[in-house]
This record gives sequence, structure tokens and C-alpha cells, in this order.
Amino acid sequence: MLSRATQQLISERLAAEVGRVGGEGRRRLTLVYPSPYPVAMSSLGFQTVYRLLNAQDDTVAERAFLPEDDSDRDLIVTYESLRPAADAAVIAFSVAYELELFGLLTCLARMGLPLLAAERDGRQPLVLAGGPLTFVNPRPLLPFVDAVVMGEAEPSLGPLCDAVFQSDSREAQRQRLAAIPGLMVPALQGDRPPPLNRCDDTALPAKAAIWTSHSALPQMFLVEAARGCSRGCTFCLMRRSGRQGMRVVPKTRILEAIPENAPRVGLVGAAVSDHPELVSLVEALVDRGHGVGLSSLRADRVTEPLVEALVAGGNRTLTIAADGASEALRSALDKHIHADHLRQAATLAVAAEVTQLKIYVMVGTPDETDRDLEEFAGLARELKRILGPYGKLAVGASVFVPKPNTPLAHAPFVGVAEAERRLKKLRQDLFGVATLGAASGRWAAIEHLVATGTRDTGLALFDAWQAGGSFAAVKRAVFGRGLGRIA
Ligand code: SF4
Repeated sequence: MLSRATQQLISERLAAEVGRVGGEGRRRLTLVYPSPYPVAMSSLGFQTVYRLLNAQDDTVAERAFLPEDDSDRDLIVTYESLRPAADAAVIAFSVAYELELFGLLTCLARMGLPLLAAERDGRQPLVLAGGPLTFVNPRPLLPFVDAVVMGEAEPSLGPLCDAVFQSDSREAQRQRLAAIPGLMVPALQGDRPPPLNRCDDTALPAKAAIWTSHSALPQMFLVEAARGCSRGCTFCLMRRSGRQGMRVVPKTRILEAIPENAPRVGLVGAAVSDHPELVSLVEALVDRGHGVGLSSLRADRVTEPLVEALVAGGNRTLTIAADGASEALRSALDKHIHADHLRQAATLAVAAEVTQLKIYVMVGTPDETDRDLEEFAGLARELKRILGPYGKLAVGASVFVPKPNTPLAHAPFVGVAEAERRLKKLRQDLFGVATLGAASGRWAAIEHLVATGTRDTGLALFDAWQAGGSFAAVKRAVFGRGLGRIA
């Protein structure tokens, strides 16, 4: 029985959605996002898979999400029909980040399913996972899922549905799934991931279905402007060698993909500011009456026409990634962004009456010292002077986590205590200059654990989740499984 509060929340959210797809079909899947609804609805990947699954013949994919309220013990239901989420042939998780592994475990438990794949059989739904985490490391997911869709999901969805719904036993499903390129079935193939799927360029752009005021990006229709990146920043999974370069979606195709009544348009892409038609694209969207949002920009791509177009599209914040704290670190990371680019961006922001400049920076990159952090704080003071008394400076600080499939894969993780010390120092040095939104050293350590882990890491996190999911529980579980100590 669903509580009244949950029913009301779902009904309010459904009432605010525009663009929902789906309907009836004999082939039923539940598509699950292991974070809460507002985050899910701001995920272009989740929305794209939802749209594409519902476009399959005789197929209906309904959505379910990690409940926000942990005290509420309702079984998870799908938003579309309020049926139990586990009442489907397939549960498909879209996992974006390492830290969502806990959310996946909570979702399985709140669906009333055994969490370990080995404890489920043909009477329960097949559990699949895909999403951005598969570009990093799918191995910690393996104890919990029957199959993983590696990389870009678009080419797999049709064959995957056929394999599941045309097979008459769990064993037959597994056999057919294992034969699909980019599908990983650990029970048959072991834990070695196959090559990542890559979709044909004709499948681009990915685009959302729904916009809603309840999304983390309110009233924003998401569409992909480019996939991958042609640059080579050594810490970044999107770098050219990892994703075979940048695939640019032509402006005309992007414009065709956008519903006329979408209030705002979010142009998505790791390297969106490298899109060769970006300024005229933003101008065209503004002419059509849309607001426009972009993810962070490269400072060396910020120009006067771009800032003016973004302001005309309703932006009052300009967001830029510095990543390395100092000139030397940015150079070592192959970021190729200089202090002058950041100064120039601040100057253009002031001229266009942007009210806030936001800068992303990482702490804990290789060879970083306090002097690098002090250089960043000094630059922040300069930027604040350029912005003047009414311009706000915001800094978003994350902790560098070495990722597989990048040149820095084997770089050391800075450690929890040292990460926290550096973040504290940055906070002190920026006091009165910028507001600081800082990540947590503890969560970064868990992110590192998952990014570099194995099936046993997944099992250790399962132990920790059962013990309450605190950082202390993770440390105990990792040690207990013989995986060393978290420093
Ligand atoms: S950090 Fe940005 S510019 Fe550098 S490789 Fe990644 S997406 Fe490209």
C-alpha cells in the first residue's frame, strides 16, 4: 500500500511534466535512476534511454527513482502506473556516478528483490545496468546485475529487448544477451569488460523527452550539441583517446530536435564550447523564444558574442572550468587554460552584466602543493576585483580522483585527510573573495575505490550498505574483505 505522501508527490510531479512518452505494450521494463527524481530528470542519458525504449515495438518502459525519504518504507513503484517497480520483465538501471552504487542497492532492496544476482532466478526480473559509470569501471556493479550495457546504449536497446522478450528462460536470455556486442553477462563471460559500444553518428543528437519544473534543471529540454572531446586533458575521461574524438552535431539537426514549446533548452556536451556553430546556435534558440543553458565552458572559448548570446538566453552566471589550481598544474594536466583566459572571461562577464562567475577547480592533482592553491586564491582575488562590488565569484572545488582509461589512471589519490586539509585551506584563502562549494574528501575516497575496484569492491560496499552506509562502515568493510585500508 502506497502512502498518501508518496502518492501525492508522484501525482504533483506527473502533473508538472511535459513530453511524457509511453503507453501500453506487452513488453514491460522498469527504467530506474538510483538517485532522486530531480537528478534523474536532469540526466540526458536517462531521458534518452527512456524515449528510445518506449519507441520499441510493443514495449513500455516506466520510470522509477531512488526515494528521497529514507524513513518511508513503501515499495518503489513506477511513476507512470504506480505498479511495483519489480513488476516487469526487466529492471534497467542508469548509473551515472560511482557513488550511485549505494542508491542501486537501496533501490533493489526497496523493490523487494534479492540484491545479489546469484540469489535471483527466473521468477524475478532480469537486472541490467548501463550509463556513464560503464565508461569508468563496471566491475563493482557485477555482483548485483545480470548484464551490463557497456558505453553508448543506443545500438543495444533493440537487440536487448528482443533477447529478453523472445527467450523462454533466464539461461536463454543470458545466452542471447551475451551475443550482443557491448553487452557483458558476467555469469557467462566473467568479469572482463568487452569494448565500449559506440553508436553511429546518425543516432545523434541524444535528446530528452520531458521537461518539468521539478527537475534539477527546471523547465529545460536537454539536447546534445556534441559528444566526446577533441582535446587531451590528462585527467578527463572525455579526452580524445578515450572517446575517439569529438562528434559535433550540426546546428540544423539540433534545432530540428527541439520542441517549439520548450521553455528553456540545455545544450549538453563535455566540450560544448568547442562547437563551431555555438554562437549562432544560441542566437537562433533565443530568436525562437527559448531560454538557453550550457554546462561549463572553456575559458579560452569565451567571447563577447557568446556571452551576449547567453545573457540574451537568460543566463546570469558564467561557468568556467579551470581544473588545475595553478598555471603550472593546468599545463601539466594539458588543460591549456591560462590565467589571462580567466581574466578575459571575467572582463567579458562584467561588460555583459553577468552577475556571477563560477569557476571549477580540483584539489589533489599530482604534484600539487600549497603554493598552487595560494596561486589560485590570488587569481580569485584578481577576478573578484574585475567583477567589482556587485559581481559574485563562486568556486566549485572537487577532489581529483584518478580515473581508468586516462593517462593519470595510476596517479595516487591524495588521501582523505590531505584532501580535507587542502579544501579547508582553499576555504580560508578564499574567505571574503568567493563562495566555495566543496566536495568531500571521504566521498572522493569512495569514488576512487569504485573507479578502480573489482567485484570484491562491490561486495565490500554491499557489506557497508548493510551496516548503515557510513564512511566508517565502508572503511571497515573494505578492510574486512582484505582490500587494504582507505587512507
Ligand atoms: S576537461 Fe574538457 S576540454 Fe579537457 S578533455 Fe575533458 S571535456 Fe575536453
